[in-house]
Amino acid sequence: MQENTFWDTCLNSFELSLPPQQFNSWIKPLKLTSENGRLVLIAPNTFTLKILQDRFFPEISKLAKLFYNPEPQFEFRVLDAVLQKIPSAPVAEKPKVHIPESKPKIETSFRGYGKLNQNLTFDNFVIGKANQLAFAAATQVAELPGDSYNPLFIYGGVGLGKTHLTQAIGNQIIINRPQAKVCYMHAERYVADVVRAYQTNKFEEFKQYYHSLDVLLIDDIQFFSGKAKTQEEFFYAFNTLVDSHKQVILTSDTFPKELTGLESRLVSRFGWGLTLCIEPPELEMRVAILLKKASISGYTLDDAVAFFIAKHVNSNVRELEGALKRVEAFTKFHKRIISVEAAKEALKDILIAQSRQISIENIQKTVADYFRIKIIDMLSKKRTRNLTRPRQIAMSLTRELTTMSLPEIGHAFGGRDHSTVIHACQTVVTLRANDTSINGDYNILLQTLTG
Ligand code: ADP
Ligand code: MG
Repeated sequence: MQENTFWDTCLNSFELSLPPQQFNSWIKPLKLTSENGRLVLIAPNTFTLKILQDRFFPEISKLAKLFYNPEPQFEFRVLDAVLQKIPSAPVAEKPKVHIPESKPKIETSFRGYGKLNQNLTFDNFVIGKANQLAFAAATQVAELPGDSYNPLFIYGGVGLGKTHLTQAIGNQIIINRPQAKVCYMHAERYVADVVRAYQTNKFEEFKQYYHSLDVLLIDDIQFFSGKAKTQEEFFYAFNTLVDSHKQVILTSDTFPKELTGLESRLVSRFGWGLTLCIEPPELEMRVAILLKKASISGYTLDDAVAFFIAKHVNSNVRELEGALKRVEAFTKFHKRIISVEAAKEALKDILIAQSRQISIENIQKTVADYFRIKIIDMLSKKRTRNLTRPRQIAMSLTRELTTMSLPEIGHAFGGRDHSTVIHACQTVVTLRANDTSINGDYNILLQTLTG
């Protein structure tokens, strides 16, 4: 029974060191037993297991060294996946599919926009370093809607797969439980619905519809910015759904705290569940995506061609797909086979534009030269004013001129956190508005870099 005491010690330690929400999500669901002299850590699912191994295990292992002599061996295990599904998706219930009990007139006024695109599935989604956490969370939410992470908030730049992943969750939930009321909607559509309900005096119907959903997926929530009435209605819908364990899934182009024009009570609620980022895909993943897209279209793409396209189109998946389509069209039109040569010709203008692309190294060097500081100092931890200003300006320019994500920028600036980058960008906005000389510096740098 020594392990019980040990586990209590761990729990106490984490409870003291973590915010309650994290403690409840990641630590509380874990179990510890011992087997053949080893300690077995059991996580409810693979996602929690991964978090445990990456983030919390070092602390557990440190405590174990204090507690045991000799140091124990650990084993990790995931609770049987089959067991997990039983309570939420009872097999026996599936055959008796019934029409949801909403009144017909509600159906006609507010239903119909919430359609999912059935081609956007988990199967069609390529997983890589850039999206593996978001993917793991998405599959888990699809298995246990309302009971895992609520809301699930996915953010990232354009064309990185937010919509695809969100719709895939919706599609999977419908496969698992055909009777579930799932509504996918772009945020602009929701805004339009609010306006219509307002104009036609139909807020009761509007509320009944949205509050009766099992799963609400709203894409590109940044479009709620500045729309007070929409935010108010959404706030009620959100609370009602989350309180009754109905799943809410949101996406946006930025980290929630960086969303401007949104009420803080909403932003703070977005953090109640799990917030994950999709990053731009790295080279291998871009190759994998191209191969997958080709196979979905029914042909096998040569590795060399995939590699060539992936190497030159590195902004986002949408553009990657676009480039492949161009190569396909080009070769079809000229009756040629898809080869590296053909791809080179088909993508000529992209290649030219790319050779002019602005790199972060270029930005760092230009800014450092301009302010007569050393790059190494700009990337260092030193925080004197003559270094912090140029550093903040360089970060902000990188944000503006490249497709790098916040964490990537932070990393490239001496291993800083993404929140530092957010802070830098906000500071620069304020400085430019209030200080004409800084604004002038910024504009000159912008012109130098883009000119
Ligand atoms: P976002 O909503 O983030 O702007 P989308 O979800 O619309 O991006 O993705 C843009 C295109 O790229 C879509 O056609 C989508 O299917 C595709 N895509 C994005 N990520 C992936 C991925 N990991 N695997 C396969 N296709 C992807
Ligand atoms: Mg989208």
